[in-house]
Amino acid sequence: MEPQPVAFQSSLAVVQDHSRHFSDFTFVYPVISRRSKGLSIGVNVNPDKVCNFDCIYCEVDRRVPGAVTRVDLNQLRDELKAMIAFARDGGLAKEPKFNEVPWLTRQVRDIAFSGDGEPTMITNFDEVVRVVADVKREAGLAAAKIVLITDGAGLDKASVQRGLAIMDAENGEVWGKLDAGTEAYYRLVNRSSIRFERILDNLLETARVRPIIIQSLLMKVHGRAMDGAELDAYCARLGAIAAQGGAIKLVQAYTVARPTPEAFVSRLDKAELESLADTIRTQTGLVVETYD
Ligand code: SF4
Repeated sequence: MEPQPVAFQSSLAVVQDHSRHFSDFTFVYPVISRRSKGLSIGVNVNPDKVCNFDCIYCEVDRRVPGAVTRVDLNQLRDELKAMIAFARDGGLAKEPKFNEVPWLTRQVRDIAFSGDGEPTMITNFDEVVRVVADVKREAGLAAAKIVLITDGAGLDKASVQRGLAIMDAENGEVWGKLDAGTEAYYRLVNRSSIRFERILDNLLETARVRPIIIQSLLMKVHGRAMDGAELDAYCARLGAIAAQGGAIKLVQAYTVARPTPEAFVSRLDKAELESLADTIRTQTGLVVETYD
């Protein structure tokens, strides 16, 4: 039986540090994640840093171009196998960044598609998922999840749909971004040319097939948190997904954790985040976890 997750302090440096680059690896990186409740192996399928959002809080430095433009499936397979072995054998526990939490480094909680851009923008998402699923199964990591962290824009693409079907059979989970309730606020914080309705439709259709997790980054823009009307609209969007047959198993509400490139973006304090989360719970009846 897999050990149960253990609580750990969010103030630990290794929890704050979500660097997507580790040693000589190109496509995988380890993080200790509160949302994963332990060790998450990130799979960066966008080392080219391509994204169809331009979030005002994004930490990816796009002034420096990415070195790799396409995922090498063989290299990804080798790197993922090596990282899992490195964690299990105790190598990760000895790394300077991870040695303050050695008890968290041996159990892989999840393998997460995340990284320097939007995972659903690659053309062979299904092939990448197949590689990850095969490595996970061969490693005997039945309890570990395969997580897709996505802005939702590409969830309707054929190769993504095929990848999601593979994930569904392998303890998969979709964490979809929703930071706004109105088109205007979406354009302000996510700065995407993709229609807001398409994002909402994609979240709904995905949630109709399997329960999803909604991830919402709540922040201050020019010193102001999301106002009451926007928060009402946001809650109504969640309610509409549920009313139309979509299942949301959890809302992860978090705030800016590290300095953002845009000076007009700042973090909520704990009380502000909890206040917004309480409203979301009350208005939607959903389970909301906060990460300040
Ligand atoms: S979706 Fe993610 S990678 Fe893309 S701009 Fe937003 S925060 Fe950055």
